[in-house]
Amino acid sequence: MKQKWIPAQTREILNKYGITLKKSLGQNFLTDLHVLDKIVRAANLTETSGVIEIGPGIGALTEQLAKVAKKVVAIEIDHRLIPVLNDLFKETDNIEVIHGDALKVDLHQLIQEHFQDVQSLHVVANLPYYVTSPLITRLLEGRLPLKNMVLMIQKEVADRLIAHPGTKDYGSLSVFVQYFAEPSGVARVPSHVFVPRPKVDSSVVKLHIREKPNVQVINEDLFFRVVRAAFGQRRKTLLNTLHTRLLSNVSKTEVENLITSAGIDPKRRGETLDLKEFAALTEVIYTSAN
Ligand code: SAM
Repeated sequence: MKQKWIPAQTREILNKYGITLKKSLGQNFLTDLHVLDKIVRAANLTETSGVIEIGPGIGALTEQLAKVAKKVVAIEIDHRLIPVLNDLFKETDNIEVIHGDALKVDLHQLIQEHFQDVQSLHVVANLPYYVTSPLITRLLEGRLPLKNMVLMIQKEVADRLIAHPGTKDYGSLSVFVQYFAEPSGVARVPSHVFVPRPKVDSSVVKLHIREKPNVQVINEDLFFRVVRAAFGQRRKTLLNTLHTRLLSNVSKTEVENLITSAGIDPKRRGETLDLKEFAALTEVIYTSAN
């Protein structure tokens, strides 16, 4: 099978199968070979790589991935697209289509079943926008044996993933992603390359998965609670927001002393702390309570 993936052809395939696209499933299909190529190249795939694709749609990205990787397993939630994909790829033996919800599929089991014989594993996807954050969270928290993820997402979310401390886009999602991965921007993608055109701008980001988290933390659960509390009220000082959102059971003076003993000025705002400072803060809070 060889498709051109221009808008007219995408519409032709959809018409042939009588499919009307669902906004609720984030169905904006890519119709530009240059963009597809950029995404695939960013993943640094080889003939020994395995790829999990989330939301193959009618297979534009799937086809390009399968040209370079050893195997592609594509998880698609919309049952109407499964026969389309099976038809299009009936002669391509390194593509496996799975009907399921990427938020629910047991990915460890999927990897066990399909990727025993690959040397590197990647997630590559033009993500449905409505589940971007939960999916990224699930993929990272699951500690899957991934080398990298290359994702097309809303530009606003991409900006948050790669944001530095002290900037408006820096938030708990930035810290979460940067803890597990090294994110970088790959490309901005204009809306006219999609059918239908989305209302938001898109970007491709690459998350290079770290072998070990970016910083060593004494207790991961507490670390992320500290981070969420610190960003809870962005306009307040670290002292106020931590006291209100995490440590209301101790006096404000005690909270102030804890923050100071981590080497941080309690008057700073949470959004100015880097990962090392969050780790230091977690350590003093943990130690004081245990
Ligand atoms: N990969 C195709 C492309 O680039 O043209 C389609 C991308 S489209 C933005 C997102 C796709 O994800 C749609 O096919 C949609 O049906 C599918 N999808 C939405 N939610 C999903 C979920 N929870 N699990 C798996 N697939 C999902």
